[in-house]
Amino acid sequence: MKRIAAILILTIGLGVAACAPATPSAADLRAQCFQNQALIRAEMDVFHADSGIYPPIATVVQKMGLKCPSGGTYLFDEASATVSCSVHGHP
Ligand SMILES: [Zn+2]
Repeated sequence: MKRIAAILILTIGLGVAACAPATPSAADLRAQCFQNQALIRAEMDVFHADSGIYPPIATVVQKMGLKCPSGGTYLFDEASATVSCSVHGHP
């Protein structure tokens, strides 16, 4: 079920990206970053459900090809299972 959720989030994310204006505002960059965080979090959850441990977030980010649009670094707090960005924080 978590993989289905990840695919659903990805599909919504692509739809949002397709509708985004050519020159995004700071709010758009932030929204895109939070969208990335949701995708990363979903992938972390899928891995955790399969293996019982969380993978290194850098590996997941690289595999998914996601980058903070403002150049931030994605971080993962295992205790709260929260993905955040060094620039935008988390929602
Ligand atoms: Zn960010």
